[in-house]
Amino acid sequence: MASHILQRLLQSEDSHMDKVVVQKYGGSSLSTLEKIRTVAGKIKEAREQGNALAVVVSAMGGETDRLLELLFKLNDAPPGREQDTLLSTGEQASASLMAAALEYIGCPAQSFLGLQLPLYTDNVHTKARIIQLEGNKVKKALEEGKVAIIAGFQGINDYGDITTLGRGGSDTTAVALAASLEADVCEIYTDVDGIYTTDPGITPRARHLDKISYEEMLELAGLGAKVLQIRAVELARKYYVPLMVKSTFGGERGTWIVKEEDIDMESAIVSGISLDRNEGKITVIGVPDRPGIAHSVISPLADASVNVDMIIQNVSSEGYTDFTFTVPVNDLELAREIVEKEASNIGAQEVRINDSIVKVSAVGIGMKNHPGVAAKMFRTLSEENINLQMISTSEIRISCVIDSKYGELAVRVLHQAFNLDKN
Ligand code: ASP
Ligand code: MG
Repeated sequence: MASHILQRLLQSEDSHMDKVVVQKYGGSSLSTLEKIRTVAGKIKEAREQGNALAVVVSAMGGETDRLLELLFKLNDAPPGREQDTLLSTGEQASASLMAAALEYIGCPAQSFLGLQLPLYTDNVHTKARIIQLEGNKVKKALEEGKVAIIAGFQGINDYGDITTLGRGGSDTTAVALAASLEADVCEIYTDVDGIYTTDPGITPRARHLDKISYEEMLELAGLGAKVLQIRAVELARKYYVPLMVKSTFGGERGTWIVKEEDIDMESAIVSGISLDRNEGKITVIGVPDRPGIAHSVISPLADASVNVDMIIQNVSSEGYTDFTFTVPVNDLELAREIVEKEASNIGAQEVRINDSIVKVSAVGIGMKNHPGVAAKMFRTLSEENINLQMISTSEIRISCVIDSKYGELAVRVLHQAFNLDKN
């Protein structure tokens, strides 16, 4: 990386010049005191190599789920504000435990909560977006030679209430911090050693990738999202934060997530095949076909912060049309309530819900210059008699919605068809 070369040059002129490194450790790397001690040792080592270190921590593995379970036992629709106040304690505990573990082994450290930085967010409880991260307190701690430990996943809104950034949100905290500190690198430590051409749990022929572009990571939702929160990648792309995903207790290899220009364009046309099991399908049948219909169905969903992904409107016959779209499974019930209300307002016949669908996608920046990828994908799936319910494309992605029972089969045949199989 250019920043490494720059760093070496800087070091040769001034050996005290620190490289600023943001590290993030996920819950699986912090699930026991023993692991916290081991990670503390790694942090100390990295600091002794002359790095200024800011470390973002997740809650101890399983803690967020445990807290959620408690809450839902008391209230099956808990207020978002209370959910956030509760869940943020997981990261609060980790941050203080880590700082204390570091101090114990002679490495000066100081913990920071979201509200202490502060990390400002909007007011959407349980999936807030970062508005601004104030990095000055962290900078000061680094200048004083301390390791700054930041509780991930949390912020505060205008009212001074605690918010959280959605599941996996500590990744986004780490990238925002790296952007704010203009860090040389943001290293995401987790239980896998990087990104693969597909989920190795689906096929042992999945190959490890040394590099992938921000754009491809974003399009590989489902594959990428397991490793990194999507918003973290969006933010990294926006601020060109060089991102590295590595295994905490594994070897040295990892995956760099970088600008498209830093990827060898001669490499594969398709870089990965992903399977997204997190969407459900809603079809509004018999919609009177007139201007404003899409708006009246979709806008109330946007108002409720439900992300609509694929949208298809059929050709109308006799003034009526069908309107189909996908939403995250977690929002399916909410979406159904909203759409049913709208459907009766606009005089539609029926609303159908299908939660046994998956989205399989082929992604690669090489597609920009190579036609025929879609044709090959459709042929490969048709040879397995897999019916395509919806299709959508971007410049570097082709996605098909299919019956969920064919999801893994589709991944395996596409992985092979696009020459991604490991020999
Ligand atoms: N602890 C939160 C979660 O489990 C945030 C994170 O780990 O990134 O989703
Ligand atoms: Mg995670």
